[in-house]
Amino acid sequence: MTTLNHPSGTAGCISQYDPQALPVSAAQAIVLQWVTPLAASERVPLRHALARVLAEDVISPIDVPAHDNAAMDGYAFDGAALAAAGASGDGAPARLTLAVCGKAFAGHPYTGGVAAGTCVRIMTGAPMPAGCDTVVPQERVETHGEAITFDANAVTRGANARRKGEDLACGGVALAAGRLLRASDIGLLASLGLVEANVRRRLRVAYFSTGDELRSPGEPLDPGCIYDSNRYALGAMLQRLNVEPIDLGVVRDDPAALAATLKLAAETADVVLTSGGVSVGEADFTRTQLQALGDVSFWGLAMRPGRPLAFGRIWSGGRPGAGRAALLFGLPGNPVATMVSFYQIVRPALMAMAGASPQPVPLVPALCDQSIRKRPGRTEFQRGLARRDASGHWRVTPTGSQSSGALSTMSEANCFIVLAHEAGDLDAGDAVDIMLFDGLV
Ligand code: AMP
Ligand code: MG
Repeated sequence: MTTLNHPSGTAGCISQYDPQALPVSAAQAIVLQWVTPLAASERVPLRHALARVLAEDVISPIDVPAHDNAAMDGYAFDGAALAAAGASGDGAPARLTLAVCGKAFAGHPYTGGVAAGTCVRIMTGAPMPAGCDTVVPQERVETHGEAITFDANAVTRGANARRKGEDLACGGVALAAGRLLRASDIGLLASLGLVEANVRRRLRVAYFSTGDELRSPGEPLDPGCIYDSNRYALGAMLQRLNVEPIDLGVVRDDPAALAATLKLAAETADVVLTSGGVSVGEADFTRTQLQALGDVSFWGLAMRPGRPLAFGRIWSGGRPGAGRAALLFGLPGNPVATMVSFYQIVRPALMAMAGASPQPVPLVPALCDQSIRKRPGRTEFQRGLARRDASGHWRVTPTGSQSSGALSTMSEANCFIVLAHEAGDLDAGDAVDIMLFDGLV
């Protein structure tokens, strides 16, 4: 049985589980216990702040909107005139006639007074003139020279006006620390007049593939060899997470080369990802090297695909406690297992280390078109193609071979069909959860 000491010195919660059948949720929780969010932060211009993590709360320095303003093109007036005209709300006609005393445009306020019985022609976004609180839309009025007439029942007092500070109040928290900045957040920061954001520094993630059989795309494919796809898929997934990727290439199945690359990775990166070499029966030196350089456990996850996983810390000095430490994830070599392990185990850890507030990936309930054989006691992530049927329900079909080496069915899929740890066989038409690959990001 492997042990893994928590960096704080307290025993991790692993002791409750068989590390050769570790439930996915337990593995996720143990990994998160080990994560310390990055402390360093930097100020970046807004145009570079997308997908970065806010290092501190953003306090609104102004009211948004900065002034009461019109929400529609029309005529602004003192809404007290509505009741005076006999508006009752019961629909009985009550005509109100107002003389137009001026115009207000966005960026060009009307600064004069608005006497009783008068109104101001106003455009969307223009500041409400002093004494006015209501806008009657232009479609609702009849114009007669310099006057307008409308049914006082057609508007209520305060209608079609946006209040100062109704979106964001000056002094309030506009965005909280830990926010992973999205396009709307960048717009929101701009609406506060801010030119930059204080964000955590980007995580540095080193990654490499292991295996004598691997050739890089562009190289000739020698007999018995395959192209290294994991490094490219990992690089692409890391790109989506907006970390600073460090591609350390392919490392041969050679202890000295592996040790040298791991030390270099720990020297430069916060997190090190490897693929291959962690399955049972694999050349022993991979385990020996990882254990020699650090404090690494070899788990068997109760997950499919993606059972073997090495997790822990390695040190640049070549032994625990010497030099710089980096978190290590040794992912399985089979390409789909690499991706599933990344999404389920590595991704939440990278997000937490980057300082982002937890953002569980949404699960969507769906009906499965096919029966699926499933053994209770492990979580399965099958590749599926989901669509909404005419009645508005999500339906999902497995995309074919669920072999952990078949990238084509992963590529064809648009979701994972998540078969829960305790679930057994499924009949066609049964309910499942799906995890969609794409969303608005
Ligand atoms: P391993 O975990 O090293 O035993 O590898 C398991 C399977 O995944 C083997 O068939 C490997 O050839 C394959 N594999 C390992 N690394 C890669 C990689 N970087 N790209 C594509 N396939 C890989
Ligand atoms: Mg290998």
